Amino acid sequence: DLCLQKAKQASELNAFVTITNEIAENHGIESEKRFYIDRKFKELDGITIGIKDNFCTSFIPTTCASEMLRNFTPAYDATVYARLRAAGACLIGKCNLDEFAMGSGTIDSIFGPTRNPWSYDESNWRIAGGSSGGSAVAVSSGSCVAAIGSDTGGSTRNPAALCGIVGLKPTYGLVSRYGLIPLVNSMDVPGILARTVEDVAKVLNCIAGPDHLDSTTIKDEYIPIEIKDIDLSKVRIGIPKEYYCEGMSNEVIDTWKLVTDLLEKENAVVKSVSLPYTSVSIAVYSILNQCEVASNMSRYDGLEFGLRTNEIYSTEELYASSRLQGFNNVVRSRILTGNYFLLTRNYDKYFIKALKLRRLIANDFRNVFNGDDKVDLLLTPTTLTDAPTFEEFSGKHNRDQCAFQDFCTQPANMAGIPAVSIPIRLSKNNLPLSLQLMGPSASTTEVLTKLNVSI
Ligand code: GLN
Repeated sequence: DLCLQKAKQASELNAFVTITNEIAENHGIESEKRFYIDRKFKELDGITIGIKDNFCTSFIPTTCASEMLRNFTPAYDATVYARLRAAGACLIGKCNLDEFAMGSGTIDSIFGPTRNPWSYDESNWRIAGGSSGGSAVAVSSGSCVAAIGSDTGGSTRNPAALCGIVGLKPTYGLVSRYGLIPLVNSMDVPGILARTVEDVAKVLNCIAGPDHLDSTTIKDEYIPIEIKDIDLSKVRIGIPKEYYCEGMSNEVIDTWKLVTDLLEKENAVVKSVSLPYTSVSIAVYSILNQCEVASNMSRYDGLEFGLRTNEIYSTEELYASSRLQGFNNVVRSRILTGNYFLLTRNYDKYFIKALKLRRLIANDFRNVFNGDDKVDLLLTPTTLTDAPTFEEFSGKHNRDQCAFQDFCTQPANMAGIPAVSIPIRLSKNNLPLSLQLMGPSASTTEVLTKLNVSI
């Protein structure tokens, strides 16, 4: 009840697209019954959750914050939601996002922007980060214990960082993408946002593991995480020098240094490492993102589902005007650019080249995690500054917003490795500053375990 109340209060912040009152109320009655009758408890009994509105939920609208899917109600549940429900979790609502998760501010939604709860200045408020800004605000405003986001280039870690909570991007394939409306299939992962590492681990334990409905899930049986203390003197942490970049605020650099010193004081081995391809990463991410977007978005043709225009003079016109009315400028520009990169004459020059560079970026990580001088974890900032004001952020083009916001986060998606953002302290503006830890592929468990003691 308290969470529902908070969710309603948080509507000023625009965290939710749909508040699932009925589900939450029925859930209360059902779990009370179970409590008195069979006394069987489940891992997440009564735990309130929010889910980003790009995960399919049967009988509950799933809009992707787009005109195209404004009236779309799926007939099936995403695996993530099905598993959370089976574990006893209670859905409070579907969370706001940038249209089709293309953004890093949660400002490009047909339902309007989401506000950062840490923002005190009404006339010059701060963005929540994105694209899972609704999920981050749902948790940080106390409307739910945990929320599910998606992370293609940083969309879980970025809003978690700007809203002062923990945000995990698991190893690619650890959590099923079935029912997650795709942005970039080769990089998308469901992410988890919560206040503490323990809460994130609890949720992960319920949703991770193979799924026959998603052939890209890791086939090995998932072994649940137990958060325990470890000996920091046995942990080697790398500080990638290429992550010091233009535009990073002094406060962020100081926070990074502060935690590095703390780790050293606890006898962890901390050393500078190099990931030489970092500088091209954002451009490569952008090309691959747009190519996959161009391909993914072709399913919205106005025929099978989604918005259909009334102007039906020809099939071509039906496609074109449904897509014109259904998508915002950001989505349309990514489709156009992606198709340009995929033209026969450009395919090798852009798409194939970007794939080759993606391999080199992934190799950079492999070298620091497996080379002779290997490290266990990498420590970097999550974002280059604290949360920008809406005014400052919305004045920039989506491409520039992303190039700045995703600088530290997207390489982990290109390499498929796990990464987590942890809040560290407040900036001069009283806004959260966070750092990111990355680990080798398939080490989500280790990353969470190690990080719990290290920071
Ligand atoms: N900002 C990035 C983009 O727009 C990341 C999006 C995401 O992770 N969903 O592509």
